[in-house]
Amino acid sequence: MLNNRRSFLSKSFLAVTLGSLKWSDVLANAAPNPPSKGPLVIATWDNRKATAAAWEVLKNGGRALDAVEAGARIPEADPNDTSVGYGGFPDRDGKVTLDACIMDEFGNAGSVCFLQHIMHPISVARLVMEKTPHVMLCGEGALDFALKNGFKKENLLTPVAEKAWKDWLITSEYKPKVNWERHDTIGIVAIDQQSRISGACTTSGMAFKMHGRIGDSPVLGAGMFSDNEVGAAACTGLGEMLLRTLGSFLVVEEMRRGKSPQKAIITVLKRIAAKYPEQSRDNQIGFVAVDKKGRYGAYALQAGYQYAVYQNGENKVFDSDYLFK
Ligand code: ASP
Repeated sequence: MLNNRRSFLSKSFLAVTLGSLKWSDVLANAAPNPPSKGPLVIATWDNRKATAAAWEVLKNGGRALDAVEAGARIPEADPNDTSVGYGGFPDRDGKVTLDACIMDEFGNAGSVCFLQHIMHPISVARLVMEKTPHVMLCGEGALDFALKNGFKKENLLTPVAEKAWKDWLITSEYKPKVNWERHDTIGIVAIDQQSRISGACTTSGMAFKMHGRIGDSPVLGAGMFSDNEVGAAACTGLGEMLLRTLGSFLVVEEMRRGKSPQKAIITVLKRIAAKYPEQSRDNQIGFVAVDKKGRYGAYALQAGYQYAVYQNGENKVFDSDYLFK
């Protein structure tokens, strides 16, 4: 998965100016949104193993919340996924620091950020939601909470990630852009047989970030947002742009105004690109979304983004359409 995606990302930068884009054309050409009844799960990138785990829950009539958690745990435990959980690339001090959030169908939410040594931050986030009066726990406090609740302290820095970090130290250059960035963050949203909607997002964040940096992924409304009345959205990409724009919240709000998931995402990407034209040209953002009617959408700023959908018993990966052509 990673190699394919990286080779996509290493394709040449798409030299398209904002001025030449016709948003009305983009919207008109948006992929159709076939109406469907749930259940359905959609995840950022080629996370088919995650959507398969989620489907196991959904197909048996399980809860969307359990499905997105089960899905998110797959890349968290995968040492070959260098952007999530175990095997995630470290920050510039060589520390693997993790961010995650989750929301249920009642609008309850839980989140952890800057969490170290715990392989499954998504499950800690769920426990924050279910067992504390709070929404977000950070760093040492989140670690203490996890350990007190039976999570195991582990070394998450794999030899591959450590080597990548040591190689990076030679130049120590941090310039996120499409050709350089490593994204595999999983944002996963689902609707179950009872039309309950939930979402989750988990990541090790931008590789070689500053120690203490927190991205969009654990921030409700930025990396993921879910409103059972409307739908849910989640994303991957340069967290700083998503933090400034609360991209996932905006997608849900556009769906609330009546847009399909696909058109809602495109509207939001257009807005982000208009607000931050230079960063948008040089970076990737990709969304997934599902609405209450059981329709889904996915779209990105740049080529190279993929998403996985499990629906009607079929697990498929798609190359996403994108704005900067
Ligand atoms: N959104 C993540 C972050 O900024 C990165 C990613 O999508 O891989 O931390």
